[in-house]
Amino acid sequence: MDERRCRYCQKVFQPSKYQPLQVVCSEKACQQRRRVEYRRQKLTADEEYRQVCQDSSRKWRSRNRDYWKQYREKHPDAVTRNRDQQQARDRKQRLHDLANNTSVLDLKRSAASIWLLRAGAEDLANNNSVSAQVWVIEPLPRRIGPGSESCKQQRAGAFSVSAG
Ligand SMILES: [Zn+2]
Repeated sequence: MDERRCRYCQKVFQPSKYQPLQVVCSEKACQQRRRVEYRRQKLTADEEYRQVCQDSSRKWRSRNRDYWKQYREKHPDAVTRNRDQQQARDRKQRLHDLANNTSVLDLKRSAASIWLLRAGAEDLANNNSVSAQVWVIEPLPRRIGPGSESCKQQRAGAFSVSAG
C-alpha cells in the first residue's frame, strides 16, 4: 500500500497505478488546481507553448468576433459587476501610484473633501509636473443659538494650494 498526502487538500490518497508519481489526489478541485498551476508554470517557462497559446487565442477570437459583445448583451449583471470591479482596481492603482510618488512623504486619511480642479487632474497622481488647484474644504461645526446667521454670513474654512 503506497499511500501519500495530497499537496493541496492534505488528504491521504492512493496513487493511480498508471501514475506512480502522482502527488495530487483525484478530487476534482485538486486536479483542476494542478492543471491551472501546471499551465501557469508552463506559460512562464516555455516560450513555444506560450506562442502556441497566443496563436490559438487569436484564431479563436477571429472566428468568434461577436462572442464578447453577445455575452455582454446577455449578461448585463456581469457587465455592471465587471465595471464596478475595474473602477475599484483603478482607484486602488491611483492611490498606489500616489503613495509611490516621491514628492508625497506621508498620506493620511482626512474627513475633509479634496477637489482637484483642472482638466486632466486625474493624471496628477502619475505626473508631478501637472499643476492643479487643490481646495481642502472642512465642514464647519453646527452653530447652536438664537438668530442663526444666514448662509451668506457663514465663512467657509477653505484654502488653496497650488501643486506642481
Ligand atoms: Zn486533494
